[in-house]
Order: sequence, then C-alpha cells, then structure tokens
Amino acid sequence: MSNLNTERVLEVRHHTDRLFSFKTTRDPAFRFVNGQFTMIGLEVEGRPLLRAYSMVSSNYEDNLEFFSIKVANGPLTSRLQNIQVGDPILIGRKPVGTLVQDALLPGKVLYLCGTGTGLAPFLSVVKDPDVYDRFETIVLVHGTRFISEQAYDGFITDTLPNDELIGDLARAKLKHYPTVTREPFVHNGRITSLLDSGKLQADLGLGPLNRDTDRVMICGSPAFLKDMVEMLEGRGFEEGAISGPGHFVVEKAFVEK
Ligand code: FAD
Repeated sequence: MSNLNTERVLEVRHHTDRLFSFKTTRDPAFRFVNGQFTMIGLEVEGRPLLRAYSMVSSNYEDNLEFFSIKVANGPLTSRLQNIQVGDPILIGRKPVGTLVQDALLPGKVLYLCGTGTGLAPFLSVVKDPDVYDRFETIVLVHGTRFISEQAYDGFITDTLPNDELIGDLARAKLKHYPTVTREPFVHNGRITSLLDSGKLQADLGLGPLNRDTDRVMICGSPAFLKDMVEMLEGRGFEEGAISGPGHFVVEKAFVEK
C-alpha cells in the first residue's frame, strides 16, 4: 500500500440520507492543487477499496475534507457512510485532475458550476487566495434537486465571508448562486438553462457569457457536462488543459455504470 496513506477520521457530518461530509488527518507530505481529486477508501477484506474523491479542503489547510454521496449498495459508500471519528481512511498519494486554474486562459469572471457532489472541488478553489488574484469576480453555482442538498450553503454564506485569510477577498469578489430544480427556492432551474438564457448573469448584475472575459469550471453528472460543453462550444469557448489553457475545464463528479 505504498501509494496510500492511512489517515484518521476527525469529524463526520450527515447532511441528508444521501449526503455526508467528513474530515481526516493529513500527511504533511500530501500536496495537491486546489480543485484536484485523489483516490480514497477503506480496507475491505484485507484489500483497499478505492474511489475518486475531490478535496473540499484547500491545500493550505491542516486537515482533509471530503463531501460524499451515499449510494445504496454502492461498494464503497455503503460502508463509508458508517465511518466514525478515529476510524482509518486510505488516501491516495497522487492527486490529479483537470479543474485547475493553470488550465484556463486569463479572464475576468470565473464561473464554478457544480451539481450535487460536483460542488466539492470548487469549495477548495473558493478558499484559494490565488483565484482572487487571477479573477475580478468568482461565481459559485451549485445545482441540486432539493434545498436540503445545498449542503455547504451556510459555509459559503456565513463562514467563508468571516474567514481570517479569505473573508475580505470572498466578500469583495465571490458571488454565490444556489439553484434547485424540484421545489421553490431563491433560484430555480437547471444551471445550463440559467446560463444559456442569461438569467443567472442578469440576477448577479453580470453580462451574457463572453469567451473573451469569462472562464468556466464544470463538475457534475455526465449529462450535465454534455449539455454544458455543447452550450459553451456553441458560443466559441474551447476546452483547456495545462498543456494548452482554454476557456473552460470539465470533470465528471461520478461515472455512470
Ligand atoms: P459506485 O459503484 O462507484 O457508483 C455506483 C453508482 O452511483 C454510479 O454509477 C452512479 O450512478 C452513482 N454515483 C456515484 N457517485 C455519485 C455521486 N457523487 N453523485 C451522484 N451519483 C453518484 N463522489 C463523491 O461523493 N464525492 C466526490 O468528491 C467525488 N469525486 C469524484 C471525482 C471523480 C473524478 C470521479 C470520477 C468520481 C468522483 N466521485 C465522487 C464518485 C466516487 O468516485 C464514487 O463513485 C462514489 O463514492 C460511490 O462509490 P460506490 O463504490 O459506493 O458506488
């Protein structure tokens, strides 16, 4: 297991019967770029059972945090949802991922668009002081079916603006746009439709999507990614990578099996 660290669970928070978050200890040698993911899991019958997870914590924090689905009968999450403080967790030592700021061309407005647990990598990004240097405005968009699934709403609206390191920057530059599809809320509708129609931007006092100034990071279901990419490419946006920065970057929040 040389490619895995064994960390300990420090805290578990259950948001709903489908969502929970947990914090673990962090090996100081485990370095990552905000927005990346790594393989994490549990030892089951003497072997590691691992799945990809985005770090919610930022790379300067002492602990690691993850935001997780609970899949009924899911090999990992049917077990992981029962973890308790003090339990061991396996954390892969090689973080990777496409949702990194160096894969984007310079711009003015950065849209971070996540559905469900696809919010996770963007929580790491909005705690990163660098992102506030690079962009004039950061728009954090979280789409869920129900209000109860807006699991980090209180963190984004109350904790972050008062954070010692990031609070001033977040208050000046971060705009939060939570939207739900299945019950009335402050914002309703699918992220793709809200961006395509320009309603989301108008609600925030921003102009229509513009590839000269706007950059987009996307993380969600495969269907959401497909719709977003089609919409952005239709407007001339090109996908970026570290080897060739572009106007948007994409990562699946999970794989359909
Ligand atoms: P699996 O057998 O892995 O999944 C069973 C089915 O459950 C999938 O086919 C899919 O239909 C559904 N499913 C799985 N994960 C999700 C999800 N997150 N949201 C909605 N439906 C899902 N999961 C997280 O909870 N948090 C993360 O930060 C996260 N980051 C990921 C990053 C990447 C790059 C990828 C590819 C996946 C990520 N996942 C994340 C999904 C994760 O790897 C597992 O699929 C998930 O933990 C369920 O594991 P499982 O073994 O219980 O079920």
